[in-house]
Parts: sequence; structure tokens; C-alpha cells
Amino acid sequence: MTEQLWAPWRLKYIENADKANGCIFCLFPAQPESEDAANLILYRGQHAFLILNAYPYSNGHLMVVPYRHTASFEEFTDAEMLEVMQLTRLSIRLLQDAFHPDGFNLGVNMGRVAGAGIADHLHWHVVPRWNGDTNFMPVLADVRVIPESLAVVYERLRAARERLDCASQEPHTRSER
Ligand SMILES: [Zn+2]
Repeated sequence: MTEQLWAPWRLKYIENADKANGCIFCLFPAQPESEDAANLILYRGQHAFLILNAYPYSNGHLMVVPYRHTASFEEFTDAEMLEVMQLTRLSIRLLQDAFHPDGFNLGVNMGRVAGAGIADHLHWHVVPRWNGDTNFMPVLADVRVIPESLAVVYERLRAARERLDCASQEPHTRSER
């Protein structure tokens, strides 16, 4: 397992995750929107939502999560798949605006054998990458340094979302819920 060097700002998240006592991808979006910041939810769509990974591979590591609890890729409807892609696009826009990464890893870990942390509820990873970010990560023996706290990353991405909302009339950038 990978060790993380930071913790205090995760406390509220961990409290909520403990209270949830089940699948956080089902229970976090079921909580009131007033808990979204504590739960690191950045955006709620119709079929899927966007959440910051509390155990990030890099700063700004996001996940696109369909509301539906399933491990089966084949079950998703066209509408769900479309919104997953739209929220992937939104993720990239937000991350470009807030952090100017040099590249991205996009993808799904299907099944625990493939590295899925929450294998029962499929989700898509959006991992921003910077030139040189692999230089230090592997050499630290599985200890990753996250230079900005989750709370700061969350605030920067929320601010980016507000700027995008102002700049765009596209319906996919607005919550219908
Ligand atoms: Zn679930």
C-alpha cells in the first residue's frame, strides 16, 4: 500500500466515509449538497458526478462516477456513458484552468485485480500529469508527497468551475439537479 504524508484535512472526509458505512460513491451524493465540500464532490450531473480523489496519485486527481452502483461496464446506458465523457471533458477543462498540467492519464481500473480501490462501483479516473512528476514518485518507496492539501485543490477547482460557468452557456456545465 502507498503511504501518504498528509492527513488533517482528510478528517471530515473520513468521518463522513465512516458514517456512510458502505459505498461512498452511493452515500456521498445522497447526502445534502451542503456536505459536498466535505465530501470533495465538485459537480453533480444528471447521471454522474465529479469527485476529488482523497488518496490522489497526483494533485487534482479526479474521478467521474455514475450514480448507479454497478461493477459491470456493460450495464451502462448511452446517456450514462455520454455524461461520463462530458464530465471527463469538464474535468480536463477545470484542471487546465486551475493547474495547467502537461498531460493526463484517463481510465478505469476494472476489478480489484486491476487495482480498483472501490471495485463494486465503477468510476473513471482523470489524473493530471506534469513533466518530471515521475522523477520523484517512484524513488520515494511508495511515499508520495502531495504539496497542496485536498482542501486547497478543491477550492481552486471550484473557482475554476465558477469561471467556466460564467464563460459558457453550454448546458453540460450547469447542474440540472
Ligand atoms: Zn455504490
